[in-house]
Amino acid sequence: MTDFTMKTDADGVAIITWDCPGKSMNVMSGEALLELNDCVDKALADEAVKGIVITSGKKDFAGGMDLNVLADMRANAGDEPAKGLFEGIMQMHVLLRKIERAGMDPKTLKGAKPVAAALPGTAAGIGFELPLACHRIFAADNPKAKIGLPEILVGIFPGAGGTTRLARKLGAMMAAPFLLEGKMLDPKKAKGAGLVDEVVEDPVAAAKEWVLKATDADCVKPWDKKDYKMPGGAPYHPAGFQTFVGASAMINGKTAGAYPAPKALLSAVYEGAMVPFDTALKIEARWFTHVLMNPSSAAMIRSLFLNKEALEKGAVRPANVDDQRVKKLGVLGAGMMGAGIALVSALAGIEVVLIDSTQEAADRGKAYSEKYADGGIKKGRSTPEKKEALLSLITPTTDYSALANCDLIIEAVFEDPGVKAEVTAKAEAVIPADCIYASNTSTLPISGLAKASSRPEQFIGIHFFSPVEKMSLVEIIKGEKTGDRAVAKALDYVRQIRKTPIVVNDARFFYANRCIIPYINEGVRMVGEGVEPALIENAARMLGFPVGPLQLNDETSIDLGVKIAKATKAALGNAYDAGAADEVLFWLFDQGRMGRKSKSGYYAYDEAGKRLGIWPGLRDKYTAEADAQPELIDVQHRLMFSQVLEAVRALEEGVLMDIREGDVGAILGWGFAPWSGGPFSWLDMLGAAYAAERCDQLEAAYGARFKCPALLREMAEKGQSFYSRFGQKKAA
Ligand code: NAD
Repeated sequence: MTDFTMKTDADGVAIITWDCPGKSMNVMSGEALLELNDCVDKALADEAVKGIVITSGKKDFAGGMDLNVLADMRANAGDEPAKGLFEGIMQMHVLLRKIERAGMDPKTLKGAKPVAAALPGTAAGIGFELPLACHRIFAADNPKAKIGLPEILVGIFPGAGGTTRLARKLGAMMAAPFLLEGKMLDPKKAKGAGLVDEVVEDPVAAAKEWVLKATDADCVKPWDKKDYKMPGGAPYHPAGFQTFVGASAMINGKTAGAYPAPKALLSAVYEGAMVPFDTALKIEARWFTHVLMNPSSAAMIRSLFLNKEALEKGAVRPANVDDQRVKKLGVLGAGMMGAGIALVSALAGIEVVLIDSTQEAADRGKAYSEKYADGGIKKGRSTPEKKEALLSLITPTTDYSALANCDLIIEAVFEDPGVKAEVTAKAEAVIPADCIYASNTSTLPISGLAKASSRPEQFIGIHFFSPVEKMSLVEIIKGEKTGDRAVAKALDYVRQIRKTPIVVNDARFFYANRCIIPYINEGVRMVGEGVEPALIENAARMLGFPVGPLQLNDETSIDLGVKIAKATKAALGNAYDAGAADEVLFWLFDQGRMGRKSKSGYYAYDEAGKRLGIWPGLRDKYTAEADAQPELIDVQHRLMFSQVLEAVRALEEGVLMDIREGDVGAILGWGFAPWSGGPFSWLDMLGAAYAAERCDQLEAAYGARFKCPALLREMAEKGQSFYSRFGQKKAA
């Protein structure tokens, strides 16, 4: 045994300790489940054992399930993967149910050995489903710990009894935020919400004490008693009925039907609530299998869990470069982006020199961090001491000599090559010879900006998204001459600030913006063609995009759109074809409707800036009659293909070097239909042959921008998928 070990103390309490060797966090594997089963069997069979405490040898209890376990269950079942999954899941239920009954006589409800969970820190996923099967949960008073069931965030749901147990423990309504939103709480809040029973200094000692005193009645779960009633009411109870009707509507509202897991979860709770507990577990297992068999869940797990983590751990980092963690950062330009970059860096404990052309502007940049910290204090997430510590790390100044001992510079001044070249020269006059210099430009090629540098191999792009503290993606751009140490430095820095990096080669708009712009343009173009704006926006929402293309344009501003359109036209010359998009964009610009910032754009806004709905003037000018509107699927495919074909072209051109980065970057960077796992996963779901055929149809109907890329055509002919062709070497 390696993951679970058991020792029985002098009082007859068997302590089962979970401690995965060589890992900082416990993660449940297939072997570990067998070991736990073995320990439980032994403890229950041993007359000298009076009770059991399950705990961890690490500072946390457990981070969840190794999702490869599910992949193995499926793969080991040959041509009956659903059967393999269902049977594997039922085995977990048998184990956890064994812990829950602990030898109890089902008729008299007597004779169970008390089982308590002692959680030193975080308990997530199966790391909380296991405690839920115990009779009492003790958590350490550790404010950093997070307790809950985050499975829904990677496209599945708690499938080791967590769904059924939590719904029965709290009632469907109270369990909803934890099951449907993956909400995690610190121990004190978790106790308030009824997730854990006790918050104590020493959970193992408290659990042992409880185990020795527990009575038969303490060891019977409410749902094993005859008179059990679901808190808040089961579906046929008037209150329960309302909860389920409301939850169903809420899920459809939130997911627009794009995600299979929330609906399946609710079905498991609804159907499970009307049958005895063990049947409910079986129902949960069937719905869980159903979700795992959906290609969406496999794609979400691959992108949002396995590959996201791989990228964060440095999957694409040059291996031959030693640790490049940043000690002192210089940020040039204390505007919207510079202020955000200073904040996230200081939050990671990095010392920051924040430079602007006036002291007032530099101070304003630092004030952003102050406002952020004040917000944290107000919400109880921070303290005045932490605020002081944060602010003491940021030095706002106009004096470039303060950069003298920085090891990384990030430039975020105006998007103007002249201004950027000037600050590069000024900084390079004082920074150490080995300092890496990065630009946060969103549109200017890195190789061009690097011409202003005397050390182009140390020059790189580190492109943040706005708002910096909220957006988790950082795009790292290699210029023609960028060297490995600069790439390693950028990646080590992104790891320090706990964001997710992708590394791309230098090209117009890099990767993310290259795909986002066609998405916005396609939406705007459709407006100009007479498509009902609400149809466009809802089509995007139903695909799982957080914001439709028109709202996105309102957020990023119409004037920026006009600027980009003009610059692209100048760069592309005759090849530029914006169709009806520019007519709409320039018309809005002429009307002074600049988007959210002017409280007027595609949408109408009230005085306070609240979005009210599509601006009627837009409809009056452009929208065709109802009977001239296109099919929903056509609108959706135009929005999807306009982005995914750009992603394929970026791969063909070598801008993207790894499809994992293309998929993860799309979801984190611009909210690309997360249920699909990203553009390449989505094309794999469609199949290259169908995707190529659809390109031909869209090209014939709407123009050359939908022309099937040669790579996709070749894959269609060879019957390949992106993950079968490009996934083997690097992707999970
Ligand atoms: P901003 O206008 O809010 O800030 C620019 C700051 O640079 C201002 O405070 C200005 O005073 C300062 N500045 C200008 N010239 C300077 C000089 N010579 N020396 C020192 N400081 C100087 O702009 P922003 O939105 O923060 O954008 C900054 C950069 O980040 C641009 O390159 C932009 O393309 C890029 N970017 C912006 C976004 C976005 O969403 N706004 C996203 C990604 C990248």
